[in-house]
Amino acid sequence: MRPEILNPLFAEVEVLKGVGPQVAKQLKKLGLTRVVDVLYHLPTGSIERVRAPAASAALLGRTVILELTPYQARENRSGRGPTRIFARDADGNTISLIYFNNPGWAKRQLPMGEMRIVSGKLEAYGDEWQIIHPEVAEAGKGPQPAVREPVYPLTEGLTNRRMGELARDTLERAPELPEWIEASQLARDGWRDWRSALVEAHREPGTDARRRLAYDEVFANQLALLLLRQSQRRRRTIPLPGTGELPRKLRLPYELTEAQRRVIREVRGDMGQDVPMLRLLQGDVGSGKTLVAVVAMLAAIESGAQAALLAPTEILARQHHATLLAQLDSVGVRVAILTGREKGRARDSVLMGLADGSIDILVGTHAIFQEKVAYKNLGLAVIDEQHRFGVSQRLLLSAKAERPPHLLVMTATPIPRTLTLTQYGEMDVSRIDEMPPGRTPVETRVISEERLTEVVDGLGRHISSGGQAYWVCPLVEESEKSDAAAAEERARLLRQRFGDDRIGLVHGRMKGPEKDAVMEAFASGQLAALVATTVIEVGVDVPNATLMIVEGAERFGLAQLHQLRGRVGRGTGKSTCLLIRGQNLTEVGRARLSLMRETNDGFRIAEEDLRLRGPGEILGTRQSGEEGFRVASAEDVQELAPIAQSDAQLLLDRDGGLAGPRGQAARICLYLFERDQAVGLIRSG
Ligand code: ADP
Ligand code: MG
Repeated sequence: MRPEILNPLFAEVEVLKGVGPQVAKQLKKLGLTRVVDVLYHLPTGSIERVRAPAASAALLGRTVILELTPYQARENRSGRGPTRIFARDADGNTISLIYFNNPGWAKRQLPMGEMRIVSGKLEAYGDEWQIIHPEVAEAGKGPQPAVREPVYPLTEGLTNRRMGELARDTLERAPELPEWIEASQLARDGWRDWRSALVEAHREPGTDARRRLAYDEVFANQLALLLLRQSQRRRRTIPLPGTGELPRKLRLPYELTEAQRRVIREVRGDMGQDVPMLRLLQGDVGSGKTLVAVVAMLAAIESGAQAALLAPTEILARQHHATLLAQLDSVGVRVAILTGREKGRARDSVLMGLADGSIDILVGTHAIFQEKVAYKNLGLAVIDEQHRFGVSQRLLLSAKAERPPHLLVMTATPIPRTLTLTQYGEMDVSRIDEMPPGRTPVETRVISEERLTEVVDGLGRHISSGGQAYWVCPLVEESEKSDAAAAEERARLLRQRFGDDRIGLVHGRMKGPEKDAVMEAFASGQLAALVATTVIEVGVDVPNATLMIVEGAERFGLAQLHQLRGRVGRGTGKSTCLLIRGQNLTEVGRARLSLMRETNDGFRIAEEDLRLRGPGEILGTRQSGEEGFRVASAEDVQELAPIAQSDAQLLLDRDGGLAGPRGQAARICLYLFERDQAVGLIRSG
């Protein structure tokens, strides 16, 4: 239960002064629904105003604060044009104050003969000086214009002044919180207490105060992950040492790479323990992760347990299923598949096979971890292409089982080290940092969309010489519908030229069986080219496809482009990736695409992508909000995660139950950043 002290912060924004349904709706557009959201909605810059005794030519164009006395009002009777109120400064200069609407209000603000403090941008209009829509204050009464005013990210209908008022209101509601940061660390970094840091961060953007707030968030994240790790390690499960007998029967057409051997040792080492494995396997596209999974699953089976392999998409699940059937049938291992598509009798028979143990390996989409799926003895869960499977889902998976399965998570998204910390901090990490031999690196070229016909000609030559190709269509908007439309249009044009039976089309709006049929036709070589949206992004393996064309390449994330490029270069032949760019490319866009041309190194690309886009987006967590960060920027996370991790570890070493004063404060920090689940994992006693 969230501690009472935080309750005022988690109230809805409607409790704030003057916030009704209308303003609440505007705030919601900014993602602000509760007091705490507004409290952490920090200014990103500030307006500077010049306070001057009188107007002067030198001040033209500046935002000024002047003391003015109105002496004449000229309202436009015909209803056209603005209301002008003429006012004098201390030197006798006349400044006209201009209002385009609400003349009555303007005149009440600026009564004749009474001095007012007026602020706004001083402009020349012919020979006159004027200020349009100035802000007006009465000396010593109500809010006064400040020389510096913080500027907030806004949305239509919400003024900066209003946002500032709301921020002040939330600050008044913010309690003093007990300190979770070590006193010596506060002193070293010159950090203030939490509440003062917030006050300061709202007054003056870009200071150490903001950094402290970012630290708090990264600390909460790290502490939550460590708690998760600890609680997992306290659990016990069945060791699955295996015998190594089944893998020997596999008869692979190649030698394992050194990296594959090392990683297999690490995985098998974990599985031999009675502490459930929690391991992340990173390896670039095509580095041979599947085989590691296969060997691990065989070890589970040798030890009398079942294994499950979870794929993110239907297509990938089917592909894994086909690969495993081909590889394992002769070994006597029974493999089944379960996705949303298996229904009725087919589904029932799979469920029965799982319950009575006649199925050894189950491949599927998230359907395989649903409530109704009961395993006789699930010993190992392998999750492929992790980035769509977050911490809370991992928690659920292991919480369900009385004896948690060993968990192996595989990802081709080359995650920078610091992100590994913030997203997978509870896991051990293995890396396949070596490609199977004999691969020729993919040649990447960037081409302007003006040269589209040349690209189509090139495609023609490629397929008439027996090659296959992918053509990936741009993300038109963040919607599958419009992506599909673009892909359909592209397929139509290519079909006109190359024939209906040579060009396939897959997109996210197609039904599973329809998609599979097209993928199969492509894999078997029947189709020469496959027009697709990013549904083919992950995992699909067609070695004869050696040309990848990506339209609107600048609209993709770098990590995503890298994934797409990884679809080719899987055979021994030379492969090419053509990145077609739009005509209005920004400086940054240009730099990103040249990086793709320069390097095939997924980790370098990921680091760069992180720098350019921020952590949430790389991992696709920003939309879902899960594991997202409220204050901490990409840079903050980079810098602070290692520090926060060791601080959190130190705290847990001293006070594992988080019972002492700092421990209690840390609990509050977890709740503040909505890591409520983690609090439940704190060791009691
Ligand atoms: P990913 O890591 O992207 O999942 P895969 O496991 O799909 O990669 O492997 C890519 C291709 O490389 C597959 O066709 C696989 O059979 C092959 N492969 C895996 N390991 C080796 C190896 N040691 N030597 C040669 N080819 C390999
Ligand atoms: Mg794979």
